[in-house]
Amino acid sequence: MHYVAPIIIVGAGHAGGRAALALREAGYAGPLLLIGEELHLPYERPALSKQLLLDSQPADDCHIGSAEQYQSLAVERLTGVRVTSIHPQSRHICLHDGRELDYQQLLLATGGRVCQVSLPGTDLAGVQLLRTLDDAAALRSRLHAGKRLVVVGGGFIGLEVAASARQLGCSVTVLESGDRLAARALPPLISARLLALHRARGVEVRLGCQIKAFRGEGSVSAVELADGELLLCDTVLVGIGIQPNTELAAAAGLIVGNGIRVDARLRTSDTHIYAVGDACEFPCRISGQHQRLETWRNAEEQGRYVARSMLGAVDVYDALPWFWSDQFEYSLQLVGQIKAAANCVARVMPDEGLLLFYLDAAQRLQGACGWGAGNAIARDIKLAELLIRSGKQLPADTLADPASSLKSLLKGVANV
Ligand code: FAD
Repeated sequence: MHYVAPIIIVGAGHAGGRAALALREAGYAGPLLLIGEELHLPYERPALSKQLLLDSQPADDCHIGSAEQYQSLAVERLTGVRVTSIHPQSRHICLHDGRELDYQQLLLATGGRVCQVSLPGTDLAGVQLLRTLDDAAALRSRLHAGKRLVVVGGGFIGLEVAASARQLGCSVTVLESGDRLAARALPPLISARLLALHRARGVEVRLGCQIKAFRGEGSVSAVELADGELLLCDTVLVGIGIQPNTELAAAAGLIVGNGIRVDARLRTSDTHIYAVGDACEFPCRISGQHQRLETWRNAEEQGRYVARSMLGAVDVYDALPWFWSDQFEYSLQLVGQIKAAANCVARVMPDEGLLLFYLDAAQRLQGACGWGAGNAIARDIKLAELLIRSGKQLPADTLADPASSLKSLLKGVANV
């Protein structure tokens, strides 16, 4: 019988797992191999800093598909296996155990790894990072009422862990070197709300704070600040961002910028190799510039889309950026692009809710960011997404007025 090489997916995380299932849903019946370094089934990561720490969701609920499902769909899984090199000319990859495997098409879904600070004491027990289910279990085992947690980095992961730890009864200090929280992604008005919320809930937040070292005998017992002050603690969480896993792609000669570069069909510079998720940079629907996103929706939608693309679909990937973060009982969401906007219109809602609309010079919506209790802003962000897609010119006074319905602005818009 004629040998057919498999489609191989490197990285069995969110995007990789989703792509494997989507390839079968899209009708691919040939050999399919999903290779991952972790021992777990593919899983979604958002609960790791929230529900999993709060014990309100078991780890199994994070899984994307069950072992039986992969088996019944004939998706072969190699777990605890690292891909060490890619050879595009001969279309094969090498594994850490010396095996070599041919592929017909390759999908790189290698995600990212957490950055560590380069300071003395990072190897002390209790200095934790958070990316995997195992990291979350290790962190959870240290967060008990009365324990002291220091969070290094006032970005989303750090703030979500801070909120979870406070709810578990820990005393929590967040150290941020910048002058506001989550500044890389959020507008100043939303950063200010985050700061007020955390402080109101008893989190000590220090902005403009520089750290010198982690101190302790075997296990961390203090964080030393640049001015010599010692903050006593039992656990440190370092949450200063991730670095995309692009080395395999770069060593194979693929084009790599801030991520593995792909076109609008998520193809790399080699036509047999695709890339998705946190590891790739792709053309932005709004700006046309390449962008790399580190979000649930990006992993989910690129995983679904790339399956069709690998099977020959010619439509382009055109999802809008969207993410959320939950902290205490508040939620924030951001859709589209907010950085290059010509102006911003604020809609102040009841119960501390806030919606910010970002428009271009022609009054077309480019992005929106919302803040509110529970699910308060979810529907409006969905409508904002439709308004962005519509490309309609929008009246600033209607956007600003909490009594005007955003839905009414969609009147007459077809096919959004
Ligand atoms: P991953 O899910 O990281 O998967 C990559 C996999 O590839 C990993 O399992 C890795 O071990 C494996 N791998 C890498 N290199 C190799 C190799 N050479 N060989 C074999 N395997 C390899 N997003 C939101 O929008 N909202 C949120 O609230 C939110 N919360 C989050 C909370 C936490 C704690 C974390 C960590 C992330 C959160 N995210 C959130 C982001 C979202 O989870 C990620 O964007 C998403 O997981 C990215 O999926 P991915 O498949 O690209 O990467």
